[in-house]
Amino acid sequence: MYQWIYKQGVKRRNPLLPTAEHFLQQSDQWSRAQLEVYQLEKLQELVYWAYQNSPYYQRLFDKVGIHPTDIKCLEDLKEIPPITKEILLEENEMIHATSGFDRLIFSETSGSTGTPLIFHRNLEWDARHRAAIHRGYDWYDIKPWHRNGYFWGYNLDIKKHWKLKLMDRLVNRFRIFSYETNEINTFIKKLERADYLEGYSSMIYHIAQKIEREKLPIQTNLKMIKGTSEKIFDSYQSTVEKIFGRKIISEYGSAETGIIAFECPEGSMHMTMENVIVEVIDGEIFVTNLFSKSFPIIRYALGDYVELDTETKCGCGREHTIVKSIMGRVGKEVYGKKETYPSLIFYYIFKNMVVDGGEAIGYQVLQHEKGHLEFRVEAYLSESMRGRLKAEIVKYFSMDMTYEIREGATFYRDGGKLKDFVSFIEKA
Ligand SMILES: [Zn+2]
Repeated sequence: MYQWIYKQGVKRRNPLLPTAEHFLQQSDQWSRAQLEVYQLEKLQELVYWAYQNSPYYQRLFDKVGIHPTDIKCLEDLKEIPPITKEILLEENEMIHATSGFDRLIFSETSGSTGTPLIFHRNLEWDARHRAAIHRGYDWYDIKPWHRNGYFWGYNLDIKKHWKLKLMDRLVNRFRIFSYETNEINTFIKKLERADYLEGYSSMIYHIAQKIEREKLPIQTNLKMIKGTSEKIFDSYQSTVEKIFGRKIISEYGSAETGIIAFECPEGSMHMTMENVIVEVIDGEIFVTNLFSKSFPIIRYALGDYVELDTETKCGCGREHTIVKSIMGRVGKEVYGKKETYPSLIFYYIFKNMVVDGGEAIGYQVLQHEKGHLEFRVEAYLSESMRGRLKAEIVKYFSMDMTYEIREGATFYRDGGKLKDFVSFIEKA
């Protein structure tokens, strides 16, 4: 029955989805060379389209003196200046290239700057994005209509519950609304018949901890646990695996770019090369969304530091490039008394701490004033670990920063999403 409801929904919402899914199933086995040939073909198509239909891109190309026919290989993409969130906001209307589409899907993202980004997606864009997620599910033998538990924000308006519950029922989903033990018990009960779990990884972890602490009986047979939209700390994994039987896998993407990568059962995050071209410049990711015709996203500075791995051959046999790690957000500067630092430093500090076989640590760093940092760590540290953390802090900030370390701390949460670095300093 759920399969039927699902298929009716697809027909109404996006009839292009089945074709997109079929395509990505085929290309899943492609060689890297095949993938790159395809990428170039789609890139040329997109760039040509953008030049013809988007006033912003037409002006930009003319200004820098390039013509769509100049894009002869993937490297040539570098000739086009990157685009930023600010440009997407400021030039919003001029970027849109919506003529010729019968139907568009309205999208809105909140974003940290406060101003929501609004854009319209053509159906193929949406279909490719969803198909990429569904291909990932398929790697775990999951269909989109299978029964799933959902962890998403607790501070939901009570009055909206019935609406959510109805929607959830239609898509064979159930969710948890609070941390109360009864609620968790009900959730556990439902989990017995679920195929997968998804949501904020910090919440999945939090619930796992509570189940462990209160020794609540639990029996699951989950095929996949997927963490979305926030950093998945290594320190979550052992507890989650112990309680729910699997570790959290990750999916990487954004509303503007669609799915960029999805983790395979061998633990590699494979890039969706059929949908996106990814460049890494000075550690920073730039994404071209090959199907973003109605609102062309070409060389978008997404704002993350990432590391790619083009060498390793994954055990699963896929040749899609591996995103090795997502190391943190670009742009949130850390202020010392004299100098400023990239927040990427925290990634290294905590990575270095566990480098020789120690337990991974859940952390968050807060800055309330210049020259001072508050390190929140979830665990209570051993004497040697504490010493190591102090040494790492001094290694990167020397005398330019004072700090405090809070152990057994709870993390600061801004709108549900957990960030590893939170700055309360307004940009000068
Ligand atoms: Zn793999």
